[in-house]
Amino acid sequence: MAQSNHTIIVGGGIIGLCCAYYLHKNKQAVTVIDRTEITDNCSFGNMGYFSPSHFMPLARPGIITEGLLHLFNSKSPFYIKPRLNKELLQWAWHFKRNARSKRALQNAVHLNDILQLSRSLINEVRKDIGDDFKMEEKGCFMLCRTSSGLQHEEKLMSMAEQFGLQVEKLSRQKVQKMEEHVETNVIGAIWFKDDCHIHPGMFMHSLKKYLSENGVQFILNEEVSAFEKNENKVTAVITQNQKLETGHVIIAAGSWLAQVAKLLHTHILLQPGKGYSHTYEEVEKNILYPAILVEGRCAITPWQHRLRIGGTMEFSGMNHEILMRRMQGIYQNIKMYYPGLQITMPEQENVWCGLRPVSPDGLPYIGKMPGFDNVVIAGGHAMLGISQCTGTGLLVSQIIQNKPTEMNIHPFRVNRF
Ligand SMILES: Cc1cc2nc3c(=O)[nH]c(=O)nc-3n(C[C@H](O)[C@H](O)[C@H](O)COP(=O)(O)OP(=O)(O)OC[C@H]3O[C@@H](n4cnc5c(N)ncnc54)[C@H](O)[C@@H]3O)c2cc1C
Repeated sequence: MAQSNHTIIVGGGIIGLCCAYYLHKNKQAVTVIDRTEITDNCSFGNMGYFSPSHFMPLARPGIITEGLLHLFNSKSPFYIKPRLNKELLQWAWHFKRNARSKRALQNAVHLNDILQLSRSLINEVRKDIGDDFKMEEKGCFMLCRTSSGLQHEEKLMSMAEQFGLQVEKLSRQKVQKMEEHVETNVIGAIWFKDDCHIHPGMFMHSLKKYLSENGVQFILNEEVSAFEKNENKVTAVITQNQKLETGHVIIAAGSWLAQVAKLLHTHILLQPGKGYSHTYEEVEKNILYPAILVEGRCAITPWQHRLRIGGTMEFSGMNHEILMRRMQGIYQNIKMYYPGLQITMPEQENVWCGLRPVSPDGLPYIGKMPGFDNVVIAGGHAMLGISQCTGTGLLVSQIIQNKPTEMNIHPFRVNRF
């Protein structure tokens, strides 16, 4: 007999774990199933930003031209591998529609709402589970090397102010003064002061440990391959080893979301967007602030003596193949913005890659699966899964408990395409 207050979560990335956290806080019984050990999914090697500053979705004006410009550049930060694939063509059509100015601005409002909700919640989570994940609240720089880059960021700055964010324009000298240990080479920056950063791998370990110690069950190295249903309810989740009866299901399978939803005959538009990173474990003279390199379209995050560099958005299908030319592109950009940084080009075996689950409009999918009363979808957070994890977890737990949601989730509905 399925317990009505028992929830099974398919996928133990940051989204699945945050859903588990808020359900557990509301005294719900939870089981997380993952086909891996949960030691290295997309939620581990990312840059760790909680970024209210990133309210402009990926699908925005200018992005298509940028993609076309970079089509034949193997070091480029944005790339769509051209191929005849029905899913990709459908996704690209909706992506193009949503990249129009009016639509992107509408989507930015909704993205801002969930980003700000999540940002406020992470402080509570830190207080609750303890800060073993190096959270620092010093904001994030948008570093610019060109006047057009800086002008573009200034436009975003005034939008950010309308959203109530604290932002400051920094001169070249001010940036250098704040980055006192490392020579920089920029013409200025915009400093988004509300952003914070964490160490994502440590956050994943802390959350998983906290949940395990507090009664959340984990079933690892088992893949969910089918569901049993009765009319408009899923009654059991099936893996290669067992059948588990359940009251509710949350599908939080990251880039595999569409595949898992297909098991319930639901079509979700999603593409994996590959990104790369490398972590230097000991940098003697390190930078102090995380930063986005605006024209270089890559990012850098310090945690005391540790340093991570990363970036690229490569739509080349479901694979973890590492193209070193892209990592080289990231490394060269970092050296251009920070000529004083004493780092070397990483070896291939030390380069990490992860697949971001990218929806066509840059908004997540959060809501009930159409046709099912007890299945909730939580995914498609693209390049902002960390930044939206706490908000998503809270909203999903409210949906499961039939409570009013903290914010309007209609823009995130599953059947919007
Ligand atoms: C280079 C890079 C930098 C990034 N930087 C940032 C950043 O600074 N800030 C930010 O907010 N975001 C960032 N992101 C994005 C962020 O990492 C992702 O949005 C986020 O990790 C997605 O989390 P998820 O839980 O949806 O997916 P995942 O972490 O991929 O987890 C999904 C899980 O589902 C499991 N699964 C799939 N199918 C099944 C199945 N059938 N049965 C059982 N388990 C299954 C998988 O094994 C996996 O563990 C970055 C991403 C990259 C690549």
